Amino acid sequence: MKSQIKYEQKFSLEFFPPRTDKGMEKLKTVIQDLSPLNPEYMSVTYGAGGTTQAKTLETVSYIQQHSPFDAAPHLTCIGATEESLTELLDTYEALGVKRIVALRGDLPSGMMDPGEFKFASDLVKYIKDTRGDTFKIEVAAYPETHPQARNCNVGIKWFKHKVDQGADAAITQYFYNVDSYLYFIDNCERNGIDLPIIPGVMPILNYDNLIRFSEACGAEVPRWLKCRLESFDDDQAGLLAFGEDVVSELSQKLLDAGAPGIHFYSMNQAEATLNIAKNLTFK
Ligand code: FAD
Repeated sequence: MKSQIKYEQKFSLEFFPPRTDKGMEKLKTVIQDLSPLNPEYMSVTYGAGGTTQAKTLETVSYIQQHSPFDAAPHLTCIGATEESLTELLDTYEALGVKRIVALRGDLPSGMMDPGEFKFASDLVKYIKDTRGDTFKIEVAAYPETHPQARNCNVGIKWFKHKVDQGADAAITQYFYNVDSYLYFIDNCERNGIDLPIIPGVMPILNYDNLIRFSEACGAEVPRWLKCRLESFDDDQAGLLAFGEDVVSELSQKLLDAGAPGIHFYSMNQAEATLNIAKNLTFK
């Protein structure tokens, strides 16, 4: 963890693009409510091959033009063409966007052809080759190993390859086990990977959603945590309070260990993220 201590610790926030006008109005309030955290940037997810892509642009435009914060659009490359990526990068450049979260994404069911850009490393290289330093490039990292990687050494090998194409920083998949992050950072250092790796932190808002989402993305909810969360049944307030304690403690341990900040998966809700952030002390 030595190399991590050299970075100033900051918050960043992630939102998903609301599908409805009502959701967009709510998100505007959430952005306002989360402003006191003074995040380094607000990122907006992007549905690979999906129907919400225009909504990502709408949300990014709003943040960029109506908030004091930098917007960081996520951009997935699976199934994309050079033409579609160029068009979107041109639009983001015109909006003054300075940062892109470059991802592979997952092929939507039914779509078989990954197209020209098979891995996130292809996208990182393409952005770097065509835009130079216009955009700071963030990539995804997996302390618990990406579900499609044969083992963690293979995962690290391809992560290094992606970083070497020109990534500036990485954001991790969420996890609830501090050691997975610490071992991952050590493994990165041993493999000559030297860039800020910001832990992605998921507040606990809803038991069923957390379990379903974690199964889909390969994030582990430890058995002890699952059992405790299950025991809250319909006591949503109890679950939220317990979740805030657990995630605050996780985040503080990460900061104490020298993590270069916390990236909150806000789920477009302000309260839990705010309550957790209030409990934290930066080094
Ligand atoms: P990659 O880095 O390309 O890795 C994918 C897999 O391929 C890994 O198993 C890797 O080991 C392997 N691999 C990489 N390169 C090679 C190679 N050259 N040869 C063989 N194997 C290789 N998804 C969305 O759809 N929209 C989003 O907005 C979004 N945001 C995310 C934000 C974060 C912070 C994270 C952690 C994930 C996000 N995802 C998003 C999910 C992500 O798209 C999936 O996890 C996807 O399966 C992998 O994307 P990646 O960019 O990590 O892919």
